[in-house]
Amino acid sequence: MAFAGEENGPKHSSDLADDDSLDSAPRSEPVVFLPVEDLDGVGPALKSKLNNAGIITVTDLAAKSPSEVADAIGSDLQRAADICECARQKLVELRYLGENFVSATEIYKRRKAIDRISTGSTNLDDLLAGGIETQAVTEFYGEFGSGKTQICHTLCVMVQCPMDLGGLSGKALYLDTENTFRPERIIGIAKSRGLDSARILDGIIVAKAYNSSHQELILGELGQQVRNNGIRLMLVDSAVAHYRAEFLGRGTLSERQQKLNKFMHTLVRAAEIYNIAVVVTNQVQASPDAYFGDPTRATGGHVVAHTSTYRVYIRKTGKNRIARIVDSPYHAEREAVFILNERGVDDPPDERSPRR
Ligand code: ATP
Ligand code: MG
Repeated sequence: MAFAGEENGPKHSSDLADDDSLDSAPRSEPVVFLPVEDLDGVGPALKSKLNNAGIITVTDLAAKSPSEVADAIGSDLQRAADICECARQKLVELRYLGENFVSATEIYKRRKAIDRISTGSTNLDDLLAGGIETQAVTEFYGEFGSGKTQICHTLCVMVQCPMDLGGLSGKALYLDTENTFRPERIIGIAKSRGLDSARILDGIIVAKAYNSSHQELILGELGQQVRNNGIRLMLVDSAVAHYRAEFLGRGTLSERQQKLNKFMHTLVRAAEIYNIAVVVTNQVQASPDAYFGDPTRATGGHVVAHTSTYRVYIRKTGKNRIARIVDSPYHAEREAVFILNERGVDDPPDERSPRR
């Protein structure tokens, strides 16, 4: 699936852009949507079981874990793992996925082709080396009112802009677990950015998750949404709230972490296989054992922290918000200042560059 304007490349700054020979590398490949029956060994019976579980394409199959596929087709884990591997191999054959062993240059080329979505603030984009990456999970965590939901709302608008305005001409899927999605806010942000608010609203699909199982079910249908609606950004606001509310007390901690772990890993796989950006939000909780630095830490323990590709900690200081990128594989640990206003996420007035 190709989105208008994708071929032009982003206009964001990027600290990867230091080699001219690689600047001409193609931008990200469109997602491959071959039906599952195109795989050797998938006959009508298996196809129907897979389709009934919402696994329609080879890409859907590659995005699932063997245990999910085993549940879907009623097989043992080994057979399911073989089918998943077969799907992955097909995508490698089609050059949509890389081989098991590739040179660092090849990985560098692939990383150059990664698309980015502007957050709405140049400062925050610069902190993230050009914006929110596709094929990755970016976690925003911070205390209540720090701006996590505002970031999600702004991204829903920005992803729909053409590339020269910081978007991907794609749509957004908003998984709302806290009932905080507000279409009025989207209209306000779109209008103050000079965009057609009715068209922007139409480009956002909202899924309200009523509990953690429902949240997992919705994620299972992501493949169909990407295929049918051109989703380029999935937001989960918040990833952890239901798990926290449902699994109370120490006795249930390991079950909670297991389920959350599975949810987060599915998100990571989906981001990569469907070539979309995934953003999750997470609250912080008081951590009295932290004697140094900020005495708060993200909920969800190590699970969310270790699974997210990038983590951004947001805190309030007066009218400003400060974002700090934490534990990134390649971003320096530094901070950026942004504000929340009628445009959603924006730069402080005295630091504003020519406006998007
Ligand atoms: P929680 O953890 O409770 O979900 P959050 O981090 O998601 O919190 P947000 O809802 O994103 O917090 O931020 C709320 C803040 O956003 C408000 O306190 C206000 O400062 C700001 N805000 C909301 N709407 C507007 C607006 N229209 N104009 C300016 N600022 C706004
Ligand atoms: Mg919120």
